[in-house]
Amino acid sequence: MTLSSAKNVHYKNDLSRLTAVIGAALVLFGAVLLVIVAYAGWSANRTAVVRERQLVENALDQSVSSVLDQQKAIAWWDDAVANAQRRPLDLDWIDTNIGLYFFETYGHDEVFIIDSSNHPIYATVNGERSDAAAAYNAHRAIFDQIVSEARSGADEGLRQRDQKFGESQGNYSALLGASFGRWAGHIMSVDGEPAVVTTISIVPNLDAGLLQGEPHLLLSVVKIDEAFMAQVGGSLLIPDLSLSQDTVRGSGVLSEAFVADDGTPMGYLAWTPRQPGRSLLLFILPLVAFGVMGAGWLTYLMINRLKRASGDLADREAQSRHQALHDALSGLPNRHHFVEHLQEQLDNLVQTRNNGRVLVAYIDVDRFKDVNDTMGHAAGDTLIMGVAQRLQKSLSREDFLSRFGGDEFAVLRCANGPRAAEELAENLRKAFEESFDVYGQHIKMTASIGIAVSPEHGMSPQELMRHADIALYQGKNQGRDKAMVFCAEMAAEVEQRREIEVELHAALEARELKLHYQPLISCADGRVTGVEALLRWKHPKQGDISPGVFVPIAEEAGLMPALGAFVIERAFEEAKAWPDLEISINLSPVQFRHVDLVELLERLVQEHEINPTRIVLEVTEGILMESSDRNRQILEQVRAMGFKIALDDFGTGYSSLRYLCDFRFDKIKIDRAFVTGIHERKRAMTIIQSVVTLGRGLGMEIVAEGVETEAEASVMRLVGVSELQGFFFSRAVPASEVAALQASFQRPKIETKPGSVMDLRAQLRS
Ligand code: C2E
Ligand code: CA
Ligand code: CA
Repeated sequence: MTLSSAKNVHYKNDLSRLTAVIGAALVLFGAVLLVIVAYAGWSANRTAVVRERQLVENALDQSVSSVLDQQKAIAWWDDAVANAQRRPLDLDWIDTNIGLYFFETYGHDEVFIIDSSNHPIYATVNGERSDAAAAYNAHRAIFDQIVSEARSGADEGLRQRDQKFGESQGNYSALLGASFGRWAGHIMSVDGEPAVVTTISIVPNLDAGLLQGEPHLLLSVVKIDEAFMAQVGGSLLIPDLSLSQDTVRGSGVLSEAFVADDGTPMGYLAWTPRQPGRSLLLFILPLVAFGVMGAGWLTYLMINRLKRASGDLADREAQSRHQALHDALSGLPNRHHFVEHLQEQLDNLVQTRNNGRVLVAYIDVDRFKDVNDTMGHAAGDTLIMGVAQRLQKSLSREDFLSRFGGDEFAVLRCANGPRAAEELAENLRKAFEESFDVYGQHIKMTASIGIAVSPEHGMSPQELMRHADIALYQGKNQGRDKAMVFCAEMAAEVEQRREIEVELHAALEARELKLHYQPLISCADGRVTGVEALLRWKHPKQGDISPGVFVPIAEEAGLMPALGAFVIERAFEEAKAWPDLEISINLSPVQFRHVDLVELLERLVQEHEINPTRIVLEVTEGILMESSDRNRQILEQVRAMGFKIALDDFGTGYSSLRYLCDFRFDKIKIDRAFVTGIHERKRAMTIIQSVVTLGRGLGMEIVAEGVETEAEASVMRLVGVSELQGFFFSRAVPASEVAALQASFQRPKIETKPGSVMDLRAQLRS
């Protein structure tokens, strides 16, 4: 039980570990997947923003370069140099080709021409020619900074935005000399608004000699207004790109601080960046999350099912292991389990090497079969369970009780001390002290117990169990209700029995067995009325063996059907020689169980043409006790065929009297135990007297067995016994001597002495 449940727990632990691992792996995998998708989405968006910001910046840089490009088309031109240096200025020409030209063609808000000594000499503001000095002074700080940068080529700490323009001027520089082409362009705060402010030198494109001193400068202001921004946005495919004073709020709108090149904050650039990761975040991510959750849920279901299935499996395995190791009826461990456990204990014994003992006791319920046969199997089962409970109660918790099947139990005990075996026997017998309650009936049961002790009686389970079995067997043989501890002689006896068994088989085949006949003497006239056939076997080594020894062996070894048939056949054969004698034949209970007795007798009667009325079949009361109905029927049938039936060994069994009333026997044979020394046992004499009276009353003949003395013979005759048998008259003799024996009994052998008979009569009366 503990073994199987431990296994079960082990199973479940394994499973929950597996579940935990799978669960953790799944959560981790799911989380990683979600993070990857989310990161991919976020990073795509992020990259897009950075890129668009970059594009906007580029566009602003580009706008500076564009304005420079526009200016360059006019400023680097021989006519422009000539007109800028002319005094007074040809204002019409300048308006047409420069001031109004830039305003109208490119939307330059302010256009200035600055002379070699950095004085503004021409200005248009919003397409109107203006006072150059006043217009210039309005933003002098900014213009000076840019003019100075253009003149000196040094950067004034402003952010550089005109590289692109510079990159494309390489050819001109080579053509005109590095000092001619000068420019500077920035995004600056003009009147608090961002504007592209660029200046470029007015230099000749062909005739370098036109230039007198430092070149004049052309300076333009292009305001970055809504329209400007819209145009930039349009070219960048950012339709809502705008510039505002404050940050713009709105979903998905990004505001980036916009700073003029000198660091003046100019409000905010705002636009809705494209979000390439949006679909990833908005659709794919939830889908993936959903998928992960679904996979998790499926896995959870799967694991649950697996858990249940393997739980069932483990349960079933535990159950079948339990079944394999336990007896179904009592729930006790079975033989297999017992052997396993015994092996463990014996191993322990060897390992610890102390002087501990391992005891094995075999318990066999006596006459259990009677209960089964008379009360039914259900009652038998109830009894077995009762015995199991009692045994368990009378043992200690450390003892290992097991049922081997039928009415056989076994106990394993580890103990110490010289009285261990006796103590165990006492414990076990205690279980049978009180009667058992079976279906309302109180049944007194006994048990035979055999005990073997390790290491004395063996070190292997097989040896120890065999020896316990031998001791049990010995107890059974000695009349049951006994506890025996194994000893070496028992083994020798068993060995001898086995030898007898083998040789008996051979003897039967070789027809070495013989029948001897013991006469029965009539009390009426002292003549021989019949003979009892008794088996004789001369063992080649052991000499004469008593049938009292080998008949039980033959019964157990399954030889009895053959042996019994042999006896009947031989007796029928030999009986032909003495036609006026009755022949008594002993029947074994086994012959009732395993042989069709009626058929056998019918056949032999025919074969040997013998009159069944001459044959007395001797049975013991056990025949009527065991599955009584069937045996009784057989007996009735046999009797109907003409055979006589005798109740043998009367008085040795349980309730001989009861059977006497139950079945009509033709003869009763009072056992030797009652006959021996009868003349000295008054009570026994009284009992015999009443049995004789009863038997005679029921019309039965009474035979006294084992008459050894004249006194015994006299008493038996006196109490009214009809026939006598015993050594006083004759032992059993070979068939060849029967006739002579019969003849010697023609004269009465017992003569009653008047004196002694009178004494006996007096004894009986008192
Ligand atoms: P049983 O049927 O009670 O047979 C009588 C036994 O008592 C015989 O022993 C016989 O020799 C012995 N006996 C007779 N008179 C005296 C006496 O005055 N004193 C003493 N001490 N003994 C006496 P045996 O031949 O050794 O047979 C023993 C038992 O073996 C028989 O007891 C019977 O139960 C069984 N047996 C013998 N032959 C057969 C057989 O052919 N078939 C069966 N089934 N059983 C047999
Ligand atoms: Ca007999
Ligand atoms: Ca007898």
